[in-house]
Amino acid sequence: MRDYTNLQWPEAPFGAEQRPFGQHHDMLAAFAVDWTSLDAGLLPVAAATVYLRVRRHGTAAQAGEQSLSIGFRATVIEEPAEAPHLLTLTDRALTRARRHAVILAGHHLDNDLTCMGALSTTPLRGAAGVLAAWANRTVKERGVALMIDTAAEARTTGVELDMPLDPVPESVPDCPGCAARLARCVLARCLAVGLTAAVHAGRYRWEGTFHVGDAIDRAAWDLLSANFDDAGHQHRHQTTHRAATPPRRNRR
Ligand SMILES: [Zn+2]
Repeated sequence: MRDYTNLQWPEAPFGAEQRPFGQHHDMLAAFAVDWTSLDAGLLPVAAATVYLRVRRHGTAAQAGEQSLSIGFRATVIEEPAEAPHLLTLTDRALTRARRHAVILAGHHLDNDLTCMGALSTTPLRGAAGVLAAWANRTVKERGVALMIDTAAEARTTGVELDMPLDPVPESVPDCPGCAARLARCVLARCLAVGLTAAVHAGRYRWEGTFHVGDAIDRAAWDLLSANFDDAGHQHRHQTTHRAATPPRRNRR
């Protein structure tokens, strides 16, 4: 299991003082889970949470890949036996997000949560709670997080991103370099979901195409690059990795 994060739990997403977020902001939490199909059935291989700072009042904030502050966590399994642990961690992340975020976003998140619940041998209370709220998300309740499905109500938001939001089947990574690459993929997709939800909620806007991979590189490269360099990526794999968001390390 590999974890890549800049969050400072358990105190708060960004430490006691909510760095780098100020007090005049709300938080949006986006979730993404990537799956693989094994003979034994569906297996989660990676999960990500991305926190975005969104203005509480006023007009939509200008968002850009060079200036966006994101809090993130990506967790990747390295063998199938670690899947239950991944489910537990994701369940905990969902519970925390409901406590700290005013907007929760996912892409068919109900599908992910249903699969998680079906696979887990222990109760996933966070996931079950979000799943129940997700089903009733059109009913606005005071003090309850706004929930946005980017595959449903936000599908037609018209957000210009350089990658699709739909997951593609992944595989269990076989080396640190591949784990880091999978972490980047799930993080990028999670950020794309969060950005789409932020636009849908009228909190973000931008001109042209938002380069999601660049924002991830900027936020997480120090955590991800060591593993890339370890592996050197000299080896060739039988499996093909998704090419939706190839890292552009030197893009200017
Ligand atoms: Zn590899």
